[in-house]
Order: sequence, then C-alpha cells, then structure tokens
Amino acid sequence: MDIQQLHKELEDLFPTMVELRRDFHQHPELSFEEVETPKKIANYLKNLGLEVRTGVGGRGVVGTLRGGKDGKTVALRADFDALPIQDEKDVSYKSTVPGKMHACGHDGHTATLLGVATVLAKYREHLAGNVVFIHQFAEEVPPGGAKSMIEDGCLDGVDVIFGAHLQSTLPLDHIYTREGYQMAAADSFTIQIQGKGGHGADPHKGIDPIVTASQLVVHLQNIVSRNVDPIKSAVLTVGSIHAGDIGNVIPETATLKGTVRTFDPDVRDLMEKRLKQVTEATCLASGASYDVDYLRGYDALWNHAEEVAFLKEIAREIVGKDQVKEAKPTMGGEDFCYYTQKVPGVFFNVGARLSDPERVYPHHHPRFDFNEEAMLTTAKIFVSVVLNVN
Ligand code: MN
Repeated sequence: MDIQQLHKELEDLFPTMVELRRDFHQHPELSFEEVETPKKIANYLKNLGLEVRTGVGGRGVVGTLRGGKDGKTVALRADFDALPIQDEKDVSYKSTVPGKMHACGHDGHTATLLGVATVLAKYREHLAGNVVFIHQFAEEVPPGGAKSMIEDGCLDGVDVIFGAHLQSTLPLDHIYTREGYQMAAADSFTIQIQGKGGHGADPHKGIDPIVTASQLVVHLQNIVSRNVDPIKSAVLTVGSIHAGDIGNVIPETATLKGTVRTFDPDVRDLMEKRLKQVTEATCLASGASYDVDYLRGYDALWNHAEEVAFLKEIAREIVGKDQVKEAKPTMGGEDFCYYTQKVPGVFFNVGARLSDPERVYPHHHPRFDFNEEAMLTTAKIFVSVVLNVN
C-alpha cells in the first residue's frame, strides 16, 4: 500500500474529522455518564463495516478491522469523556451543555481515530494483520475506563498499542515521547486527626489537633528528603489543612489533604508506608488518634523502548526530525498506563497550539481549545504505524 496515498485520503477527510470533533465538542458527556458519545462512535464504526463491541468494561466501544493478510494486531486508543467545566470560549462549536465541556481534547482524540478507521477500512483487503480501535470512556476520573475495558478483553490478541494526546500549549505538530516512565502515579490522601477540644486557656486539659497537624505537615516533608533514594523522584504536597473556627478554642479535629506523585512502584509503596508510620508516630506522641485514607490513583505510565524508537522514526517522516522531541516526564496521571502494563506500546503527545496566542489556554481551563490541524498529523502517524508495524 502507498502510504502517501492514504495520507492524501486523510487530508481529504480532514473536514469530516473537524465536523465530528465539533459535534462531540458541542455534546460533552462526563466520565461514567457517557451514553450518546459511545452510541455515535459505535454507529460510525459499524457503517465502516467493522466488527463492533459496545458496553466494553462498562461504556467502552471496540471496533476491529480484519486485514486481508496475516500480520500483527495493532490497537489504537482514544478516550472520549469530558469535564465538569463551564465552556467560556466564544466559538460556534462551544458546548451546548451547561457546566460540561471537552476541556482536555478527548473530542479530538475520538474524531482522529474515526478518521483513521475510515481510511484503513477502505484498504482492508491489502492490510496485513488487524487493527483494534479502542474508544475508551472515563479517562478523567479514577478508577478510569481502561482497567475495566482490559478486563473485558479489549487487548485480547493485541500485539502492540499506541495512544496519543493533543497538547494545547505545545507547538503545533511537534511530537513528544520518551522511553520508560512518561507520567507519574497520582495518589491522594486525607488524614483526620482526632484531638480533644477545650478552652484555649486550658491546653493541659485537652489534646490540641492543630499542634499535632502542624508537626505532621513538617514530619511528612522528611519522607521525600530522608527516605526516598535521591536518584529517584517523589512529591508529597499537603494542599489543604482545616481546623478550628475561633482563636480561643482548641478544636476537636484537624483534617489534612494532599497528593503523592511517584514513578517507581517501590517508591510509591515506600511513600504510602512512611506516610502512615509518620502519622501514627506523630499522633502517638501527642495522644491524638487519627484516620488515614490513602487513595491510589492511576499507575505511572511506562513506554516500551522498541515502540518508542519505532514511533519516533515514523513521526520524523511525517513532521520532520526537528519536530520529534524527547518528552520530559511529567507528574500528571493517565490511565493509558494499564495498556502498556499488558502489551508493549507507547503514548505520545502531539503539539496542538493555536496560532493566536490569545486563544491558547492549558488543559482543563474554561477557555481550552486546540488546533484541529494536529488531528490530521496524529491520524497520519496512526496510519503509518499500522502500515509499518508488520
Ligand atoms: Mn486528557
């Protein structure tokens, strides 16, 4: 098959991809509440003649395209959930649903993948191997949709997986990825300290949870600086602390909330263990009791070396070698991590910055938008991946 011909067909299809994206953009659905979006995706894929499974792991859609020749099975993944944010952009395609919006570009991921499916479906006879289109629900809210879709078999028979994320603040058509850990495991915690309230003038008759909480915040900082291997990385932030109402009363309780970000699983285990030990010891010293709620978010995202090299090579042919960059690891989270725990694969970022700097906003911002041209670039990369993988 002639890759240039398929890329040309993607270019011809680009207006349709934009139309699809804007339709999803106008009708956002929140994580775990997606109904119409998976229906639209399933209908679209069925019309292309793909084998389609709906309700995968809950609300996911999986389309399978069987090629005419033998070869590897490649999975391509796009997420389709939106966020509880009021759309404040001034564009014709802004969200029609109050308080909900596609503020992370998942509408673009979905439209891109439907474009890829359209072009590849036309050439199925000539295609070696199969392509599995994984349309995933609920990426934004742990436990996410990926885990349950995998348990429901979306990776069965899959040899390798690829996923992309559009990035509104990175230069258009620049590709970023890296071998190894690319994104962090994102955990959260709530610590409730139970003291004994009383008059501020009689501290000896109570147990002051504010003093204990203050000590605890300081002691927790020692975990990263004194327990974690300095060559490895971790973050522990206490972002919220609440206790008391007035100045002359010792309150009953104090509540701390925070986040822990790590890459290596052993560091993650260490952070959780030490956080609990330090809390126990600090509360024991003051006579307070406590309750720790430690919630594990997504695992860290690992990209496989061979697939990273393969993807970079393909991206260089499409955007030029100067625009393929080594990604810096970030402390953000992404449930694509569960796919690359099962099969080799790579997640890459595609710069999608708008040319007008006034319209550039970060992800999850009420004025978030992205440059739709990046969907075409992403689609070309996906098509080239499929054609070159065998
Ligand atoms: Mn996202």
